[in-house]
Amino acid sequence: MTVAANLEEIRTNIRQACNNSNRDPEEITIIGVTKYVTIERTEETIETGIKNLGENRLEGFLEKYNYIQDRATWHFIGTLQSRKVKEIIDKIDVVHSLDRKSLAKEINKRSKKPIDCFVQVNVSGEESKHGLAPDEVIFFIESIANYENIRIVGLMTMAPHVDDEETIRNIFRNLATLRNTVQEKNLEFAPCHYLSMGMSNDYKIAIEEGATHIRIGSKLVGSEN
Ligand SMILES: *Cc1c(COP(=O)(O)O)cnc(C)c1O
Repeated sequence: MTVAANLEEIRTNIRQACNNSNRDPEEITIIGVTKYVTIERTEETIETGIKNLGENRLEGFLEKYNYIQDRATWHFIGTLQSRKVKEIIDKIDVVHSLDRKSLAKEINKRSKKPIDCFVQVNVSGEESKHGLAPDEVIFFIESIANYENIRIVGLMTMAPHVDDEETIRNIFRNLATLRNTVQEKNLEFAPCHYLSMGMSNDYKIAIEEGATHIRIGSKLVGSEN
């Protein structure tokens, strides 16, 4: 399948999910996750009009960035080691995996401009998942108030790989509730308007529960070279 054909199907599903939940499809940003695919396929993705690309590993990101440069807005969606921050921070636009103070400190120190960050939350509580526990999020955000190069634009989570739709829906709903709590604090450095949630298998549910940024790899750009 071409990326364009995949995108058409995804847009149809987005419209439907927005219809179900009284939302405007314009509120949804599609992040094309290119971690599984080649440079050629990444170029094809950009040609469809997708401007936001996501990578989850440093090496994969740098390889793509070398070719694409700033023809895309770059989202770093994977675990980021503090000591690697300096290698990529001037090349990425958005970090989706802020989950600890040491990482915030390093980003703040190394970046020359404010970076939009999502705080990653482990809503499901699975041990294999990264992210802060929900009850740690407010304290964490308040603790980085004086980091002038960090802007908390939203919260991010990954749902578990389960078939039960209600389980997934509850996780997304809990993240939305937590986002509202942060928003109500009216922190200047943490507007926290956005929700980065939903991947190939669960983006429709995520949109119905308020996602503003969906991260789609296999069903948009493909899962192999
Ligand atoms: C790989 C990845 C995605 C995309 O996964 P698909 O299921 O292929 O859509 C989204 N978010 C993160 C954090 C990922 O690592």
